[in-house]
Amino acid sequence: MSALFDLTGRTALVTGSRTGIGQAVAIGLAEAGADLVLHGHHDDLDETQAAVEAHGRSARRWIRDLSRTDGLAADLDGLLDGTRVDILVNNAGIIRRSPAADMAEEDWDAVLTTNLDAVFAITQAVGRRMLARRSGKIISIASLLSFQGGVNVVGYSASKHALVGMTRALANEWARDGIQVNAIAPGYVATNNTTALRADPVREPQIRDRIPAGRWGTPADLVGAAVFLAAPASDYVCGHVLCVDGGWLAR
Ligand code: NAD
Repeated sequence: MSALFDLTGRTALVTGSRTGIGQAVAIGLAEAGADLVLHGHHDDLDETQAAVEAHGRSARRWIRDLSRTDGLAADLDGLLDGTRVDILVNNAGIIRRSPAADMAEEDWDAVLTTNLDAVFAITQAVGRRMLARRSGKIISIASLLSFQGGVNVVGYSASKHALVGMTRALANEWARDGIQVNAIAPGYVATNNTTALRADPVREPQIRDRIPAGRWGTPADLVGAAVFLAAPASDYVCGHVLCVDGGWLAR
């Protein structure tokens, strides 16, 4: 393995690593040599843990509901006191679909809290430790809806636009301290997050036909970008949003 992409000796915390993109990224980072802290809402991470261990890497768990931020920093400090996190992947996220005029306040709050407030709280706690060590990689999973408005997903779009602003602000502040803060914007990927869209007989072909690559993405399509942004290969890449979208935004 090229040293540029070797994660041996590093530990990565991947939020939302039970399913989808987070699961694929956690396993991909393990394959590149990293030990993992897996995170889930519930303690149901056996599948991901077994796959990480199959690559000869260790996996410990952090169980925490990210739809609330009360006590989050203290909870995370308990973890960070015993574990040095070199790579943080802010992946956990939710989507609620509804016309903006009908969107319930609780849906807006749930999306903004999970996709933005919790991400900042986690990034701040992990970032403080990285600042003390003058080293670290932070990768947040953004979206095409960091650039576009989307249809019936106003809270999600707002949260993912803000995530890119946060990424750039933190990159500005922390690059001089040896911390690279970047984001990945996945295109349309077949996961739980897009079950409703893929089941919609009108929207599904509209989306597929618009993707230059001619297909939906898979979680595995995101792994290369995540390993790159976690590895020494990206040590001078700061504040970038890497689109992995089959060409959607280039169209
Ligand atoms: P997913 O539903 O499989 O994964 C979401 C993860 O977040 C799950 O592991 C879930 O357990 C976790 N999570 C959700 N709510 C939580 C909570 N309250 N507390 C703790 N954990 C919670 O879907 P996915 O598509 O793999 O989504 C991962 C990320 O990718 C999300 O941030 C999503 O917005 C983003 N994304 C997905 C797509 C896509 O097309 N699938 C496109 C762009 C961005």
